[in-house]
Order: sequence, then C-alpha cells, then structure tokens
Amino acid sequence: MRYEGNIFRPPGEWRSYLLQVTVGCSHNKCTFCSMYKDKRFHIRPLTDIFEDIEMAGEYHGRLGRPVKRVFLCDGDAIIMKTDQLLAILNKLYDTFPMLERVTAYAGPRSTLTKTPEELKALREAGLYRVYLGVETGDDALLHQIKKGVDAAEMLEAGVRLREAGLDLWVMVLLGLAGPGEPSRRHILATAKMMNEMKPRHLSALTLMAEPGTELGEQVARGEFQLITGEEALMETRLLLEHLDVDPLHFTCDHASNYLPLKGGLPEDRDAMIAAIDRALQDKDLMRSEYGRAL
Ligand code: SF4
Repeated sequence: MRYEGNIFRPPGEWRSYLLQVTVGCSHNKCTFCSMYKDKRFHIRPLTDIFEDIEMAGEYHGRLGRPVKRVFLCDGDAIIMKTDQLLAILNKLYDTFPMLERVTAYAGPRSTLTKTPEELKALREAGLYRVYLGVETGDDALLHQIKKGVDAAEMLEAGVRLREAGLDLWVMVLLGLAGPGEPSRRHILATAKMMNEMKPRHLSALTLMAEPGTELGEQVARGEFQLITGEEALMETRLLLEHLDVDPLHFTCDHASNYLPLKGGLPEDRDAMIAAIDRALQDKDLMRSEYGRAL
C-alpha cells in the first residue's frame, strides 16, 4: 500500500481500503478547491496498482481482516480507460473474496467521455457507487467557479451515471454564490437540477475559504463574501423545500456545516426544516465558526 501526497475520501468511506489509481485531479481548476493543488495529475501504471492490491491482500490476510469495501482514489478515478478500470475491478474482487462494493469519485467531464455501455460494464464489474461534485445547478456559477462543464453537461453526466445503475451520490456547496439574490438563484437552480438528475444521495456542504485557492484569495481581497451561518441555514431550508426526489438520502452533516442534519426525503423534510427553524431562533444550536471543520 503506497500513496502519493495527501489522500482524500468521502466521509462515508472511512472503513474502505483506499487504493490510489490516479494521482490528483485531472481538472484541478475549481476556484474553491485545495485538495490536489500539491499534485501533478497522472494515472498510475496498472502494474503498480496490481502490486498494491496484492500487498493489501497479504496485509489484510495476515491480520485476518477481510476487505469488504474499496475506494478508488484520487479525485477522478473514472478518467482511466474503461478496460483498465475493468481489470482493476476484476483483480479486486479476485483478491478480496468478501468484497462487497467498490466506489470512486467521478468527474463530470471524464464521465462524459464514457458511453452508457461502458458505464454499465463498470457497474456490472462491481463499481457500486460514484460521488459526483455537482456544486451548483446554476450555469453561470458553474462557469464562474471553473468547474469545467456547463449545467447541461453536469446534468447529462449525473443522469448517465444513474442510468448505468450506479448508486449516485452528489455533493453541492452552500454559500457558493455568496449572499443575496445570487444565493437564491444558486439554490433554486441546484434543486431543479437534482430533481432532474435524481441522485440517490445528496450531501450539502458549506463553502469555506481555503488558503491557496482562487476563491480564498478573492475572499481575502474582499471580492467575494462568504455567507453567514444563518444564511447557510436559509439556503438549506430553501433547498429542502424545493427538492422532490423520492427517495433521497439527504445529508448536511459535514464538518463544514453549521447545523448537522441527516434524513430521508420526503419523510424527514418537515423534521429537518423544523430543526433549522429552531436553530435560527436559538443560535447556540449552531456550530461556531471555530467548531466548523475541526
Ligand atoms: S473537480 Fe473536484 S477535485 Fe478537481 S478541482 Fe474540482 S472540486 Fe477539486
């Protein structure tokens, strides 16, 4: 098990064996993202990846700890050639007989390079879930944050992943448009896109100004205004009101969020909105700025 640079994974993958198949992010231009700024993107040679899998097989075998989940790092494993991804999936399921699921981040642009048949083949070979960073459904905002795709392309990527049978987990970013009317436009466009994309899971994270990012510099120069905790709660409320995906596993419990929320839609919508309203009345229920992301 060898890793290059800092390794990131979705919070729900804490039990997964992390296998690095690509290093960094093939896009690496989003204005708010600091995750892979230290890495030059490249795809690891298949021989190295296979060696890692064998090493992990021996290691976990010695410990008597079966591997049940694998997460393919880094930021966009889906960019690999389909035949290489299929070979990795086959090797993983051969090496770990108790393996139940393999998951990965999927970049929207890389997803669109795959045909629906290729995505289905990956699903059939055991790629179970993909995480797609949508961030916003607002076309102008996607352009502004340099996401690399427009809203129609983002929607197409998500629909393609879902229709291939993959368990689609989408992340969006509260606060991405700043306060005021842009905030409302961002949330309404995001809800509209989610209602068409129909992911199975949706996580709403809250924007933080990361040092070393373009957005972090805009904040430092006073050119971009972060939203307050109250505004973040209002965005969450507006999003919940306008989502009509059924069923939807909704989470807003990331370290960046001001109020941890988790539930199923539509059945938990009212309870989550009531929790938001309570926190808007009593600010002590919200995480402090210091408590966020600790
Ligand atoms: S695509 Fe994802 S990992 Fe890559 S720069 Fe954008 S947010 Fe970061």
